Amino acid sequence: MLNSKRRGIVLVISSPSGAGKTTLCKKLITEIKGVTLSISATTRKKRKNEIHGKDYFFKNNEEFLEMIENNEFIETANVFGCYYGTLKQEVLSKIEEGIDVIVDIDWQGTRQIEKHLGQDVVKIFILPPSINELESRLGNRASENKETFMKRMSEARKEISHYDEYDFIVVNDEIELAFNKVKSILYSERLRGFRQIESKLNLD
Ligand code: 5GP
Repeated sequence: MLNSKRRGIVLVISSPSGAGKTTLCKKLITEIKGVTLSISATTRKKRKNEIHGKDYFFKNNEEFLEMIENNEFIETANVFGCYYGTLKQEVLSKIEEGIDVIVDIDWQGTRQIEKHLGQDVVKIFILPPSINELESRLGNRASENKETFMKRMSEARKEISHYDEYDFIVVNDEIELAFNKVKSILYSERLRGFRQIESKLNLD
């Protein structure tokens, strides 16, 4: 009855580190059709198990600044003293094709991306169940030493202070529950009238 093509959604997911955002994003791209994850560029050092081109495009400062000069980013931010940025090529053509793009970025990048892409953007903030739980999750991370842990906790508090700038808040106390909430948000947002382009209603 209704045949329509749809614009893709830019699903921004932010959270302090340790709230389970990475797991959620991975579940979204593996379990939901028509969804992809934007790979950011960063000057942060590669961690063990990370793969260039899969987790991030790892760049040095000079390369990153050159990419800014070349206008390759939708947004950039300095997080924990390193540059991070969302690449236009990871997002723009995909939403035109009707593919939804998950963008795992901080609150600074979220503000910029919304300014550029407006209604195409849906913003979700993932909260840990409590600060105690967050502390224990961050404390358990093998790659963090004590000083990094303290810094990450203070950055986490800063990130959390921006949760009310988001459209949806999801508390991640149980991953399946949180995943189902994010999935419901995505499915509802896909149905919004203004995202349907070239709609044809046939009432015959
Ligand atoms: P991590 O270094 O632990 O992977 O990420 C640190 C923080 O940087 C996370 O909060 C993550 O969401 C944020 N981040 C990752 N990529 C980008 C990006 O392209 N832009 C912005 N603004 N933040 C990012």
